[in-house]
Amino acid sequence: MSSIESIKELREFDLYDRITGMFETAESAGDLVYSESNYDEIIKDEETNLEYELKIVEALSVRPNNRAVEPGMKEKVTKDHVNEVLKKNPFLKPEPELTIVESLISDYRLILNKYPNTKYHFLLVTKEFTPQDGLLKPIELLIVRTILENLNGKLKSIGSKTRYFSFFNSGPESGYSQYHKHIQFMLLPENFRVYQDDVVRNVDFYLPNEIDERKGPLFYPKCSFKHSILKLAPIDLKHEDHDDEEDEDKLALLYMFLIRRVLNISKEFNIEQISYNFIMMNDWMMVVPRRSAKYENIWQNSLGFMGIFNAKNVEIKDKIIELGFQKILEECGFKIEEQEKDVMYNEYGY
Ligand code: AMP
Repeated sequence: MSSIESIKELREFDLYDRITGMFETAESAGDLVYSESNYDEIIKDEETNLEYELKIVEALSVRPNNRAVEPGMKEKVTKDHVNEVLKKNPFLKPEPELTIVESLISDYRLILNKYPNTKYHFLLVTKEFTPQDGLLKPIELLIVRTILENLNGKLKSIGSKTRYFSFFNSGPESGYSQYHKHIQFMLLPENFRVYQDDVVRNVDFYLPNEIDERKGPLFYPKCSFKHSILKLAPIDLKHEDHDDEEDEDKLALLYMFLIRRVLNISKEFNIEQISYNFIMMNDWMMVVPRRSAKYENIWQNSLGFMGIFNAKNVEIKDKIIELGFQKILEECGFKIEEQEKDVMYNEYGY
């Protein structure tokens, strides 16, 4: 088991080899629950130009739930709830066979997902118990981006057709199953079209504000749900003045801007407990404010907003088709306005 104690070390560590090697070993030893899906379809919607993956993932049927409160109950989390969560918390002492990096920048670990949606699905978890409801710290944003740069750089160099993205589900309606703080990393389907890439393509990095129309967050108008996307500042490691702290500050600034949007929207709809999905790729980050963890019996976390729909069985898969991808996402988030770009948000109030 290894230890990585700086961003520089994390940048240079061969994470991909470590993750794939450990996954293969854990899979053959039966330490994780994974099987190739026997139903995996890519669906293109001509009208919106959005792409979806619809897949049956059997491991979802056995994935445990360890939430502090159940979605839809509007119940406040108490100490008793937290004590119950701690009794069966899988991330406090993760299984050694699943532990990729035992100590990362002092306070974190990397572990394989025991019930992965895709091969090589893994998690960044805090060593100490920290609630999932809340914000990401600047250092966490920097760790996530460094991991994405590391893995996607490697995947590109070996000619892979896939990439990693990262996501964080926070708040009682965000669709999470574990209450201990965790951020996830998952591979996209090969050659998958990601609408956020199109939104940020040909956009230069800028610091956002709500006053100047050209400096607001970006969005894809054909999505049915409110969301906000920002382009990340490029990282220039070749530059001799390169400073990790500066990268971290910029990430935090963008993230807090997006969080204020979540607060604005949640206030407008009288939501007491904030829930949101946060998704990050090498060169963009996005938030989706949430009002419901599920629509009918279809649960959603960040994945649907990435176009990825994983069902635990054929019945759920058929129900997703019947309801429609965009309808499910609209009901779990907030309906996008026809003139979304004209909506005024208050950057300094909520
Ligand atoms: P979420 O449902 O977004 O809260 O993500 C929690 C993830 O933790 C799920 O994808 C589970 O498959 C995963 N998980 C649950 N138990 C364990 C465990 N014992 N070790 C590693 N990962 C786990």
